[in-house]
Amino acid sequence: MKTRAAVLHEMGMPAPYAESKPLKIETLELDEPEHEEVLIKIKAVGLCHSDLSVINGSRPRPMPMALGHEATGEIIKVGTNVTDFQKGDHVVCTFIPSCGKCIPCKEGRPALCERGAQSNEKGEMLAGGRRLHSSEGAINHHIGVSGFSEYAVVSTHSIVKVDSEVPFEQIALFGCAVITGVGAVVNTTQVKPGSSVAIVGLGGIGLSAVMGAKLAGARKIIALDINPDKFEIAKELGATEVYDSSQSDVIDQVKEHTNGGADYVFETAGAVPAMKVAYGITKRGGTTTTTGLPDPKQEFSFPQVTLAAEERTVKGSYVGSCVPPRDIPHFVELFKQGSLPVNRLLSDTISLDEINDGFDKLANGEVNRLVVKMD
Ligand SMILES: [Zn+2]
Ligand SMILES: [Zn+2]
Repeated sequence: MKTRAAVLHEMGMPAPYAESKPLKIETLELDEPEHEEVLIKIKAVGLCHSDLSVINGSRPRPMPMALGHEATGEIIKVGTNVTDFQKGDHVVCTFIPSCGKCIPCKEGRPALCERGAQSNEKGEMLAGGRRLHSSEGAINHHIGVSGFSEYAVVSTHSIVKVDSEVPFEQIALFGCAVITGVGAVVNTTQVKPGSSVAIVGLGGIGLSAVMGAKLAGARKIIALDINPDKFEIAKELGATEVYDSSQSDVIDQVKEHTNGGADYVFETAGAVPAMKVAYGITKRGGTTTTTGLPDPKQEFSFPQVTLAAEERTVKGSYVGSCVPPRDIPHFVELFKQGSLPVNRLLSDTISLDEINDGFDKLANGEVNRLVVKMD
């Protein structure tokens, strides 16, 4: 069948993207779903910094690639051996397929699925191969989803069934921003009630971490960003204090006002300067967790003595250490109860044709989350 999709042919094209148009909207041929795959009518898909990292080339992927991963939609056809899903189900896509068979999957750490990481890196489906084609050949899949498209064929190991009452443009955010940000707080770091938390970087993941910290019962939630426009929403979501992290003395400012720093600090910007601030404002005995994915050539360093002498912990968190079929329905339920106001992350909806302009807004920090709403 045919599908209109946003395809990236070349990484590193100059911003503004509204002019250089790195994403081309093309009509592609989409194959039928195969073994343990489904065909989804995509309804909504968020613009994420991980898409931007492929567009700007800081996380290189094979080209050409159909981008988009924070996607949701309705199953319209199932392939063979699909037992847990049926036509009409609303599903959210997750950006690491979990095979269920490798050691990390068996250990309950599907974010580290070995086969999932390999297929994502190659731009293939979990089962191998590609289901999207143009007249010039196969098109690579973006992390098993390729959601900026009218239709997508995805592995059943890349989807989670969700509540059909929640609007698509809101439920899309659970697939990436929410599980990454909330999961980093409640799963990876297991923030204790009454503790102090700081979050460096207030994009979709950082604001989700603010919500997660409130949910976890943090006494103090310190929000930092280089863009003060983010402070208002951070406060609305639960931040008790805000700081401009571009100021050269920000570490001293936070330490002074927090009696030596925060118990748990999250770096969500994926940038070494943000990680330096995060480590600097972590108190003695505290934990610094990063969810960011900077350019692989970037290195972060710190005085090693602080690890032992101050009993410091540095952690990485991928997909919020979530088990998506377990955590996404829980987070959606908390959203419905009002304790995870994920709808507040949504700045606006746009059409597929406005996608390059949308990535300019995301890159410039003008929006929290923009979602492409498909007809
Ligand atoms: Zn993402
Ligand atoms: Zn696996």
